[in-house]
Amino acid sequence: MKLEALQIAIAGAGIGGLSLGAMLARRGARVVIYDQMAAPQPVGSGFVLQPTGAAVLDEMGLLDQVRARGAVINRMHGKLAGKGIGEPGKTVLEVGYRDGEHGIAIQRVALFDLLLDAAVSAGVSFQTASKVTGFAEGKRAAIVLEGGVATAAADLVVDAMGASSPAGHDATKELGYGALWATVPWPENGPFHANELEQRYERASRMAGVLPVGTARDGAAPMATFFWSLRNRDVDAWRKAGREAWIDEVRAMWPEAAHFAEIAEPVHARYRHHTRRPIAGHGVIRIGDAWHATSPQLGQGANMALLDATSLTLALERSGSVDEAFALHLRQRRMHIRLYQTLSQVLTPFYQSDSRVLPMMRDVMIGPTTRLPMVRYVVSRLVTGDFLDPVGRLGIGRE
Ligand SMILES: Cc1cc2nc3c(=O)[nH]c(=O)nc-3n(C[C@H](O)[C@H](O)[C@H](O)COP(=O)(O)OP(=O)(O)OC[C@H]3O[C@@H](n4cnc5c(N)ncnc54)[C@H](O)[C@@H]3O)c2cc1C
Repeated sequence: MKLEALQIAIAGAGIGGLSLGAMLARRGARVVIYDQMAAPQPVGSGFVLQPTGAAVLDEMGLLDQVRARGAVINRMHGKLAGKGIGEPGKTVLEVGYRDGEHGIAIQRVALFDLLLDAAVSAGVSFQTASKVTGFAEGKRAAIVLEGGVATAAADLVVDAMGASSPAGHDATKELGYGALWATVPWPENGPFHANELEQRYERASRMAGVLPVGTARDGAAPMATFFWSLRNRDVDAWRKAGREAWIDEVRAMWPEAAHFAEIAEPVHARYRHHTRRPIAGHGVIRIGDAWHATSPQLGQGANMALLDATSLTLALERSGSVDEAFALHLRQRRMHIRLYQTLSQVLTPFYQSDSRVLPMMRDVMIGPTTRLPMVRYVVSRLVTGDFLDPVGRLGIGRE
């Protein structure tokens, strides 16, 4: 299909919306992105781009800049902090990458700035302070804004509003546990490894992690993401107890990380798990977390949003109509998404839940078995996101 002829409206200027907008506008489509924010801005701390997400960014010509800002990650390592089967310090998670592969941990703001620049230079227009409430169907679809105003009709409307997209919102899918997240200065010469995501666990009710995430922009100081698992219903009690109580808790569980609790300005993130229908109406499609949200336990969400954006772009380019493109896009993405949604649902309670049995199984089995070569290979493929070869299915090159 000739993309120059297409008028496209995207709701949501997050990872999926910005990358999709940039890719389509570069191919000549007229793209408008609507976002509720007064100015486009990132929400959250940092995350790991896996080889799948890196392949998309390479295709967009952004990988060198991503590498320059991010931190190479070649190991994910979790130990017991106490209250588990085994002595504190016992390894219960050991994940490496296959030869030649690695993750890139990056601050959300750094990736956001690169994607926003790419979208602006490709000619995407932005409508900010535009809260979307739904979509209007007709011969050509449109976005409906707060107050009931419909935007100009488009050939394609995309819901990229993330996990809490108001279109098809279902309040029952919120998970019981979320986490406090903070971006903190990376302690040079400190006790943490520059190329590792490190975690500590007590049963599944407590978990903390430290991830080096590189610099936000050229010349800025390197930072780390610190996260602390917290039940949603305990957030008020945590606030009331005050910072000193939190520092004591962190020190008791992971003394080396107590300094982060002293300086952090944490934000509590809630997690959702859902798989919505990808087609939201005639000419309206969901991508990223609006389609499939999970807890960040498997660390795939940002990578999945990038893959969705590439898949939809290529499907539009390779098809004769928007309907054909939707069908091709779903063939390219559906199985991969189903697999990871299921795995995330099964594995999350081993790390974040009130269960006593699941963390015991984790402590007894997961650590030792992830050192076996075959299991190591499978776990590594799982974490890099490339089970079912989502990049190869799109026919784009690997890093
Ligand atoms: C704490 C946390 C840690 C994470 N860690 C990782 C990780 O390590 N690795 C990984 O791959 N993924 C991780 N994820 C998941 C990842 O952030 C998401 O999967 C990814 O951001 C989804 O991209 P998206 O474009 O679908 O949505 P988002 O990036 O969430 O963007 C949604 C956009 O829509 C806008 N919007 C929302 N509602 C409206 C509305 N009503 N009207 C207009 N605009 C609206 C928002 O302002 C935002 O700009 C994490 C998520 C969280 C919360």
